[in-house]
Amino acid sequence: MTLIVQKYGGTSVGSVERIQAVAERVLASHRAGQQVVVVVSAMSGETDRLLQLARAMDSRPSPRELDTLLSTGEQVTIALLSMALQARGQAAISFTGGQVPITTDSAHNKARIEHIEASRIRNALASGAVVIVAGFQGVDGQGNITTLGRGGSDTTAVALAAALRADECQIYTDVDGIYTTDPRVEPRARRLDRITFEEMMEMASLGAKVLQTRSVEFAMNYRVPVRVLSSFTDGPGTLVTEEENAMEAPRVSGIAFSRNEAKVTVSGVPDRPGIAHAILGPISAANINVDVILQNVSAAGRTDFTFTVERGDFDRTMEILRGVAEQLQAEGVRGDTGIAKVSAVGVGMRSHAGIAASMFAALSKENINIQMISTSEIKISVVIDEKYLELAVRTLHEAFGLERGDTP
Ligand code: ADP
Ligand code: ASP
Ligand code: MG
Repeated sequence: MTLIVQKYGGTSVGSVERIQAVAERVLASHRAGQQVVVVVSAMSGETDRLLQLARAMDSRPSPRELDTLLSTGEQVTIALLSMALQARGQAAISFTGGQVPITTDSAHNKARIEHIEASRIRNALASGAVVIVAGFQGVDGQGNITTLGRGGSDTTAVALAAALRADECQIYTDVDGIYTTDPRVEPRARRLDRITFEEMMEMASLGAKVLQTRSVEFAMNYRVPVRVLSSFTDGPGTLVTEEENAMEAPRVSGIAFSRNEAKVTVSGVPDRPGIAHAILGPISAANINVDVILQNVSAAGRTDFTFTVERGDFDRTMEILRGVAEQLQAEGVRGDTGIAKVSAVGVGMRSHAGIAASMFAALSKENINIQMISTSEIKISVVIDEKYLELAVRTLHEAFGLERGDTP
């Protein structure tokens, strides 16, 4: 008997009617002879609403209490979906993360799944029930409720699919697959039939929120076939799968972007060995992730050191750097939150030269200034003024012929 894990995101369970529509879809899969485990998100907007409530109490709420609060969003939808199935004569049972249990580490707000005890789910499936599991949450070794970071229900679904050795993990969302770029920004974006784990991992980590990065990591490590589908329309969706033949892959498969960026510069730093460490050491000690890094050539023994961080970490980064700058006798610290990062991604880049040149040419034709550049084997990212983000995405989408599915 095939076993599938289906995950429904916030928009897909955003109202009573939509939860009922999900129940019909789940029922259809079950009636077709499949064992079904369903993972649901909170109703759309709910997690944000809960975050606002928390901030009304404390501008920096305790991470543990925040998790206790945020996890309630998913507890609502598992119970409602279970009721909707039962009302249709289908046996169903809901589980919170702690009831499964899904055990995580204790890193509140960004916990990692360590173990899934599958026996309770297996027993319920064997009895003929549909099992509904709350996404985004788990429980640590001490019994504290944890959450997995925004978008974490994707990771719950893939991790469950891995633990249960499911035949497929289906991610139902508000788009009918993975596109060459976010279709909300470029309506001419094209749905991909397949994408490799590696490319999807880059796309996700570079800002394409259609799948949480960690879910793709899980899928890749445990070889879980993941399919992204629309919960509103029928169609084949996009299969995330292993690489087949990179030589034949297009040079660029997609354009990802992120607004969640901020740039900081320590200027006039004495140019001597150990400077990068002196600046970045305290940042990493504060658990802040540094992304693109740039050090200018020095003039008169001094240099500028620039890097990007997530926007939410900007204030703390500036605070730390002011201290560091004083110690190093640097000239000053500057910051800019009005930036964005645009990236071209493709495993085909490995076998094609000149992608960076095409990218820079296309951006320069639109007079878009590149502030920073970062490359790897399968991606090129540029940091630009946020004002030009949408223009840059469309320009690159066109420059790489993505809407037509060919390469110029
Ligand atoms: P859910 O609530 O179902 O988890 P998300 O909002 O997290 O849904 O993810 C779906 C959204 O991801 C889409 O509505 C789309 O705007 C966005 N998105 C970003 N990049 C892409 C892409 N390359 N392909 C498809 N969707 C994308
Ligand atoms: N409800 C959580 C969020 O909004 C988790 C998810 O939807 O995947 O981030
Ligand atoms: Mg999501």
